[in-house]
Amino acid sequence: MTDATKCPTCNSEHAYQDRDLWVCPECGHEWSTSTEAASEAAQEAGVRDANGNALADGDSVIVIKDLKIKGSSSVVKGGTKVRNIRLQDATDGHNIACKIDGIGAMNLKSEFVRKA
Ligand SMILES: [Zn+2]
Repeated sequence: MTDATKCPTCNSEHAYQDRDLWVCPECGHEWSTSTEAASEAAQEAGVRDANGNALADGDSVIVIKDLKIKGSSSVVKGGTKVRNIRLQDATDGHNIACKIDGIGAMNLKSEFVRKA
């Protein structure tokens, strides 16, 4: 009981270390103290769906509105489920790379999806 690490979410002092992660027993928050994981977490926290939920690689999302595909007559219908997304840096806002059944590989904006 010598460690004073506090949970960054609820400020509980009862956080304990489990392998590479810190775990808070009070709110269930898990975090890493390694800088590499921290920057990765920060990057992931930067991509949020229409409801403000953080998205991560491998998540499934649902498209919330009809999206026209640039340079094509195809439309991704609202309600389409997209599996196994990949987050990417995008200057134009298309920060999700994915593959949609019947359409193929494309990029989506996270503001037009919600976590499935
Ligand atoms: Zn906590």
